[in-house]
Amino acid sequence: MAAVTTDGLYATHEVTNQPPALEDYNAYEQDTVLVEALHREGASWAEEKARRLGALVGSARMATLARLANAHPPELRTHDRFGNRVDVAEFHPAYHELMALAFGAEVHSLAWTARRPGAHTARAALSYLWNLGENGIGCPTGMAYAAIPALRHHKEIAAEWEPRILSAEYDPRPLPIIEKTGATLGMAMTEKQGGSDLRANTTRGQALGAGGPGGEYALTGHKWFCSAPMSDGFLTLAHTGKPGVLSCFLVPRSLPDGTRNRFFLQRLKDKLGNRSNASSEIEYHQTWARMVGEEGRGIATILEMVHLTRIDFAVSSAAIMRQSLTHALHHARSRRAFQRLLAEQPLMKNVLADLALEAEAAAVLTLRIARAFDESEKDERERLLSRIGTPVAKYWICKRTPAFVGEALECLGGNGFIEESGMPRLYREAPLNGIWEGSGNVICLDVLRAMVRAHETLPAFMAGLEPVRGADRRLDAFIDALTRELADREDIEARARRIAEMMALALQGALLVQHSPSAVADAFCASRLAGDWGRAFGTLPRGLAYDQIIARARRV
Ligand SMILES: Cc1cc2nc3c(=O)[nH]c(=O)nc-3n(C[C@H](O)[C@H](O)[C@H](O)COP(=O)(O)OP(=O)(O)OC[C@H]3O[C@@H](n4cnc5c(N)ncnc54)[C@H](O)[C@@H]3O)c2cc1C
Repeated sequence: MAAVTTDGLYATHEVTNQPPALEDYNAYEQDTVLVEALHREGASWAEEKARRLGALVGSARMATLARLANAHPPELRTHDRFGNRVDVAEFHPAYHELMALAFGAEVHSLAWTARRPGAHTARAALSYLWNLGENGIGCPTGMAYAAIPALRHHKEIAAEWEPRILSAEYDPRPLPIIEKTGATLGMAMTEKQGGSDLRANTTRGQALGAGGPGGEYALTGHKWFCSAPMSDGFLTLAHTGKPGVLSCFLVPRSLPDGTRNRFFLQRLKDKLGNRSNASSEIEYHQTWARMVGEEGRGIATILEMVHLTRIDFAVSSAAIMRQSLTHALHHARSRRAFQRLLAEQPLMKNVLADLALEAEAAAVLTLRIARAFDESEKDERERLLSRIGTPVAKYWICKRTPAFVGEALECLGGNGFIEESGMPRLYREAPLNGIWEGSGNVICLDVLRAMVRAHETLPAFMAGLEPVRGADRRLDAFIDALTRELADREDIEARARRIAEMMALALQGALLVQHSPSAVADAFCASRLAGDWGRAFGTLPRGLAYDQIIARARRV
């Protein structure tokens, strides 16, 4: 019989067999893997912050803000009505609200403000939680987090900028830095002729006085990619006369006297995903800047920032996997087909368990590397792990994410292809972390560079695998194969992806064998390490504890 709707009209049918909305749950509390990792990696003290952010991220309000901010991407205004240049990206109010929420939750700052052991891990957990809900804002939060070591190359500049960047207040007003209550920072490296090969940069800095560290310069040139262009400042690479020898500069949007700096927005990029965040093309023309770090050491200075953004992207991709899995699990346990819940169909169980394994391995790896940052100062082996583990984790986790999200999307059937489900947004976002701040090949070459630059790096990485020797014969055999692969230096550049992948899998296997339930560790070793697995998700061998693996992942 037709149901009567609230407006008195007759509906043609009753809606059945559609899952309830996935909202108003605590994204932290339902994530057993995250909860365990936060405690294990030394950041238990941040649990209350994680719980608060988890409640926000799982709320209907957050879902609405994320949808609106992405459905209404920023628009460029180059001039005002009188023809004066204004160069602004204008955002939907939802974007500003999200920025205030993320910065208010210390997603960008906790690593530097907490001043206690576990601070990088705690911040990584907050970033992971935030990225479950929305990814465009993850760009400005990630850059604010990562900029601090680069800024500290100049005491006076750091004294002005650091407290404002680490402030929990979002202050979008275009003011000189000393008048701001909170600030954001972008980075401008990539030019048309080269992004990976930064030495190809042609932007030029001319000293306005004596020059050198802290000195004033006028920059002229372009940047082909500059995200979050409404930031208060931009760490920029330019040469000072000798092409290929780059220095790092801080370009403020507003000058100390309150006037606009000569910062020209040419276009906003029409991007596949990450649509709430603006990414732009910019021109510098006699643009005022100050040098940060030593002249000619620009790449080394900005790479300190890049290194931290890389671990943040691995964290963010782990979160994209987790959120896709949450949607898939939620749908499969509410939707029936052929007289059974999808979640009870044997083949769907294989898919869900396989996805759950991948998501767990990604989360434990990223938080383990975050801990290595925490312990870097007092433990050299941890410092070396943070160096090489970051590109290893970024490469492998970001590489797995697009295939992962595609599979999770399919678990929702046709609904997964529809914008309202939230899956298309995750799908469009999925490849990005694998591209920016070093695309796959470049990241794998960085793994090799880390091995070559400091000979102790690889032994430190391998020593980290030793404690698990003997726990699982498949893991032992895989570590042996990795050792052989690494000992062979012939054609090593062409084998860099293979090496990075094996290193990631070995470390993930070691972490799961040590810390996860045997159902998870066993399935990971059987499939990823011993190779009893197909080329698509859902090809785990029979006889594994699918139900236990799924139950661990499914709490909502
Ligand atoms: C949405 C978005 C926002 C961005 N925001 C910013 C920003 O705010 N600031 C900024 O500076 N940049 C930004 N970027 C640029 C980004 O960091 C670069 O696109 C990226 O580093 C790759 O550089 P490229 O595009 O010049 O590609 P290329 O350097 O031309 O590389 C193309 C391909 O070749 C591969 N490759 C390069 N060198 C080698 C090699 N030696 N061996 C084998 N393969 C190689 C790469 O891995 C890549 O797959 C952004 C990019 C995107 C998509």
